[in-house]
Amino acid sequence: MSNVLCLCHVCRLTSDAPTDLADDVKVLCPRCGAALHERKPDSLQRTWALLIASIVFYIPANLLPITKTSYIGGEQSDTIMSGVIYFAHTGAWHIALIIFVASVIVPIAKIIILIYLLVSVHRASAHRLVDRTRLYRITHSIGRWSMVDIFVVAVLVALVQLGPIAGIEAGPGAIYFGGVVVFTMFAAEAFDPRLIWDRWEKA
Ligand SMILES: [Zn+2]
Repeated sequence: MSNVLCLCHVCRLTSDAPTDLADDVKVLCPRCGAALHERKPDSLQRTWALLIASIVFYIPANLLPITKTSYIGGEQSDTIMSGVIYFAHTGAWHIALIIFVASVIVPIAKIIILIYLLVSVHRASAHRLVDRTRLYRITHSIGRWSMVDIFVVAVLVALVQLGPIAGIEAGPGAIYFGGVVVFTMFAAEAFDPRLIWDRWEKA
């Protein structure tokens, strides 16, 4: 029986865990009783599933209105891009840029980077291991910043409630956009960066 050092995710105790047990046998932390894993369980499958869900949500997030503005004499629906174009036209370049980067560039970049990391692990690539690990760290830490759009909508909805005169409501696009952000955050969390280094250990 071979052993490997395992770090408990709950109490951080490092203990010896056997590696050659059957799949249905759980190894528990000797101190706190939490289940020990040598790796994140089913990392590739879970990351792919969450990533595909985020791609599916990305389409309605951009096509459906994210805000509905009502005022005397009319109603206006805005998608993420129409909001960016509106701010750019009215001269608020910095706001247009922040929304464009946080809501369009960052989610797409995260999805592309995670697909690249998954494909390179599937192909057991030994190419630029340190750079790929760095890419993963950036993707993992950047996630919450794409929530900027949701915060902006939430603040607007709370501030602009002037009864019959004017009001802003969150549109269905906001729900899908929130889904994209949450799914990509979970996907980055589910990916196990140690998979990148398996090739190096074998070499
Ligand atoms: Zn423990």
